[in-house]
Amino acid sequence: MTLSLNPPLSLDRIQAYLGGEDDERLFAAANAATLAQFGDTVFLRGIIEFSNHCRNNCHYCGLRSGNREVLRYRLEPDHILACAQTIADAGIGTVVLQSGDDWRYRADTIAELITTIKARHDVAITLSLGDRKPEELRLWREAGADRYLLKMETFDRELFAQVRPDSDFQQRLDNLQCLKALGYQVGCGVITGLPGMTDAILAQDLLTLTELELDMLACGPYVMHPQTPMAGLPDGDVLQSLRVTALLRLMNPGALIPATSALNALLPSARDRALQCGANVVMPSFTPQPVFASYQIYPGKNDTEALIDQRLTHLTEELSAIARRPGHCRGDTRRSHHVH
Ligand code: SF4
Repeated sequence: MTLSLNPPLSLDRIQAYLGGEDDERLFAAANAATLAQFGDTVFLRGIIEFSNHCRNNCHYCGLRSGNREVLRYRLEPDHILACAQTIADAGIGTVVLQSGDDWRYRADTIAELITTIKARHDVAITLSLGDRKPEELRLWREAGADRYLLKMETFDRELFAQVRPDSDFQQRLDNLQCLKALGYQVGCGVITGLPGMTDAILAQDLLTLTELELDMLACGPYVMHPQTPMAGLPDGDVLQSLRVTALLRLMNPGALIPATSALNALLPSARDRALQCGANVVMPSFTPQPVFASYQIYPGKNDTEALIDQRLTHLTEELSAIARRPGHCRGDTRRSHHVH
């Protein structure tokens, strides 16, 4: 089943697909494109959410600084290194270091973590540490970091300003370009169904994401958090998130696209569905149990009591049920501008 992208999808066509025109054909074409690029392999990323402190106050996020009900934590460097060891021992080829925008970790502390993890393990390192200064991004790249995730959530300036009041739109865009120039594999993404978002905004977001020629593309549905100014507003739609996943795959065949945890927070089977319509990455959390549940950007995230071994076994079974297998390798981008 083919879906021609020659000429590339127009804004109108994207909007039509977002509106539910021909889901079956869209999903089948995205699945075929994923299999053609990556076969039956799903890349695993072990993620360490090492601090839930954040200086920002994003309206959709449970970790916003204005939320006084969160139990805040910071992991010490030795604890982070122990988590990285667990990821490497599990045979996973990428360690993701993620936190809120927490300036308490100095740039050289992060650089030392990167150097030590690279010296001890044959893994790729992805950073997801927010809007840091260009010189810090450079230091970490030189220390050996391979990838950086910096989600815009939307490229609509007005909506961005409404939902991320402390962020500078232009600075974030500039940081994306800076990361590319430094040779990182760069990831960005959107929240579908964010209150205030329309199909027209979302369609334009997909075009902009594609024009940026990124290596990693993420979309997850908005999940309402009760301790935010958006409390009570409706969740995003799982089906629309799946459509976005499929469109991103077709518009960016070689990109790494995760089946996001926000999908599963709304519908337990959604991760499998995403993996069958464009996604090719899963990011299990290796954040240790005493603080695991406190990294709650939205309800349903990190809310299982299962230990990591049990969750990995379950994941392998889940993948097997949809004829996929976990990839025990770095799982780099297929975009041609990066050579490894
Ligand atoms: Fe902080 Fe990120 Fe949450 Fe915004 S979305 S409050 S930057 S953790």
